[in-house]
Amino acid sequence: MTEVTVIGAGVIGLSAALMAQARGLTVTVVDREGPAAGASAGNAGAFAFTDILPLASPGILKKAPKWLLDPLGPLTIPPAYALQIAPWLFRFWRACSPRAVAASTAAQTAMMDLSRTELEPFLAATGTLGMLRKNGNLQVYETEAEFRASLPGWEARNAHGIEFQHMVAEDMAAVQPGLSPRFIKGTFTPGWWSIADPKLYVQALADQFRAAGGRIVIAEVTGLTPQAGKVSIHTKSETMTADKVVLAAGAFSHRIAATLGERIPLETERGYNTTLPPGALDLRCQVTFGGHGFVVSPLSTGIRVGGAVELGGLSLPPNFKRSEAMLGKAKAFLPALQTEGGRQWMGFRPSLPDSLPAIGRSKASPNVVNAFGHGHLGLTQSAGTARIVADLLTDLTPPVDLTPFNPQRF
Ligand SMILES: Cc1cc2nc3c(=O)[nH]c(=O)nc-3n(C[C@H](O)[C@H](O)[C@H](O)COP(=O)(O)OP(=O)(O)OC[C@H]3O[C@@H](n4cnc5c(N)ncnc54)[C@H](O)[C@@H]3O)c2cc1C
Repeated sequence: MTEVTVIGAGVIGLSAALMAQARGLTVTVVDREGPAAGASAGNAGAFAFTDILPLASPGILKKAPKWLLDPLGPLTIPPAYALQIAPWLFRFWRACSPRAVAASTAAQTAMMDLSRTELEPFLAATGTLGMLRKNGNLQVYETEAEFRASLPGWEARNAHGIEFQHMVAEDMAAVQPGLSPRFIKGTFTPGWWSIADPKLYVQALADQFRAAGGRIVIAEVTGLTPQAGKVSIHTKSETMTADKVVLAAGAFSHRIAATLGERIPLETERGYNTTLPPGALDLRCQVTFGGHGFVVSPLSTGIRVGGAVELGGLSLPPNFKRSEAMLGKAKAFLPALQTEGGRQWMGFRPSLPDSLPAIGRSKASPNVVNAFGHGHLGLTQSAGTARIVADLLTDLTPPVDLTPFNPQRF
């Protein structure tokens, strides 16, 4: 029986572990803290299947200079990290050419289609279908100019068959009452789904994995060594062996990949939020304030306000003034929001410069499968990624072309 060790008990690692287990493989998951310790716990809970346009795009290059002027705005580079992030930013800038954007949009669309197709059967198989919500997303705009600037993106989505509806304020009030009148237009996407609560979801996946015989070991992995058709997994306390390894340690994965000689330019886009008690607002769907870089999400456990990108690496302490700034704006945009009693959080999005994940075999060993770097879309693409990983582990051909996701593409 093939023995597989998955490194990382986030949404990617556990989804892959469950799909591998369903194929009859013997699976162990190793995480330094346990299930849902990383970005998968505190995210906005969206299955953003309609979000096929890469972040690396000319639109972001236009907005970035203005955003960077506000130290608590949607995009920040702390001076202490500016030099380290420079090579990643250069690659990001190169990924913004029209040709690169067309290629990454096509790749992202294939990944989204696969992820949506795989999601409901996966939720059903893992007993988590009751956590799925299909209540859509409302993106809102403050000016005609902002709305017009969004239109090429909507045309691109239209070309890929994505449904949406542009709205004036009156229609928006029917979708989400209580929006500030400063928002004059909006776009509703019904194909944007969400999970009741991302942390509870990952914990439920862990429970299901254990119930089906899976083992979750708490240990910090320090490196991997391929050895005679197997892989040695070094942790701080011991060395384990498996036939195959899946590397799904989120924003920390490149450090482990480096022990195999792989140089993968993974960085983190740090994101912030505040989760308010469930009664804080009568929120009917997720609302995106794109011009301000944050979303307000209805979860079973509360109202989550957050987003933003801070290119600050893995070591700098969090700056929760960013959570406060977004909460202040949310109050201005949804005046009925009760802002007391919130819980602040910061998470590390694992991001590659071309906005696509790294999914595929390691160049050092065909027995190591990389599955990380999903950036803003790890929950969204978790079921699709798990399907691909399970195919690679069982020597089947995955249903999407993996060339754009090749971990060695940089
Ligand atoms: C503010 C914010 C909002 C977001 N909103 C959304 C959203 O709405 N929809 C969406 O699709 N995505 C969203 N994302 C992105 C999403 O959260 C991530 O892409 C996703 O969680 C990544 O999952 P992962 O399993 O790769 O990583 P993680 O969840 O970070 O898991 C990695 C795991 O690896 C473990 N680990 C790390 N190093 C080691 C080691 N050396 N040894 C052992 N274990 C190790 C960690 O403990 C952790 O449990 C958001 C992110 C943020 C920050």
